[in-house]
Amino acid sequence: MVTAIEPLLREQLVERRQRLEAAIDILPDPPEIIRLLGEVDAALQRMDKGVYGLCEVCHEPVETERLLADPLIRFCLGDLTPTEQRALEEDLQLAAQIQTGLLPQHDKKVPGWDVAYYYQPAGLVSGDYCDFIDGDDHSLHFVLGDVSGKGIAASMLMAHLHAMFRTLISINLPLGEMIGRASRVFCESTLPTQYATLVYGRTGSEGNVEICNAGHPPPLLIQADKVSRIEANGLPVGVFCSESFSVSKVQMQKGDTLFLYTDGLSESSDGTGDEYGMDRLSRLLDENKSLSPNSLIKLCREELNSFAEKSATDDLTLMAIRRTD
Ligand SMILES: [Zn+2]
Repeated sequence: MVTAIEPLLREQLVERRQRLEAAIDILPDPPEIIRLLGEVDAALQRMDKGVYGLCEVCHEPVETERLLADPLIRFCLGDLTPTEQRALEEDLQLAAQIQTGLLPQHDKKVPGWDVAYYYQPAGLVSGDYCDFIDGDDHSLHFVLGDVSGKGIAASMLMAHLHAMFRTLISINLPLGEMIGRASRVFCESTLPTQYATLVYGRTGSEGNVEICNAGHPPPLLIQADKVSRIEANGLPVGVFCSESFSVSKVQMQKGDTLFLYTDGLSESSDGTGDEYGMDRLSRLLDENKSLSPNSLIKLCREELNSFAEKSATDDLTLMAIRRTD
């Protein structure tokens, strides 16, 4: 993996070297710049020797995400000094706080609808995206997504999606067109390997709901006589820069509930390789269709806890939206 990104990092290092050299004469602290120049040169030498990106203590590859963030690092996460570890933890805590600030309020009131969500990062930060946004026309927009990758890099992309949709919503485009635009912006501003699966929905005043499923595990529509899946309308956003998305339309009656989740639920494993899966989820929802969104999410978490291995390895987000009149 390191070799794949090495040309890119080499380019960055060479550029950084040029900037540092230019700064030596004009900045007040030449010794500090000379020290930084030394670090850049040492990294370039490691590339020439073919040992770039290997930890200097254990000789295992350093985490790619960290190299992309700082091409000068020389130690894997397990071999950081205590001071470095503390600084990293503080950064992560701060990132987690910022991410929590991007989540919708938990007691959100929406006329005609009862909504709830649960958001649990596997680590300190999550690559899941979850949002409720009020539309101009009293509609409710709801989004649940899952960004490729994990950790800090994924959480940055989550913040990117958040800002993008909050901006796009004000233009009031047809739903499919809005997702198409979001996909183009996401594609143009991220690395080729980065994309996001997501479900974007918009409620109408008569219980009609438009949903675009961009490559995400199907949301479930719980109705009096059945539980049905809302299958994908297209690829994940950001895979291609010129994707188009169609939209599914569903009619929800009083008491109907839409249930959305990330693969932290459906692909959660019991330790023997058995996945929680959609059939189990459908059955659970079918047997408990009278529950409120909050209770349904609570029940689902309890059931997942008794099914899955102790520590979650993937971010988990659940969302339920029920029509109340
Ligand atoms: Zn190491």
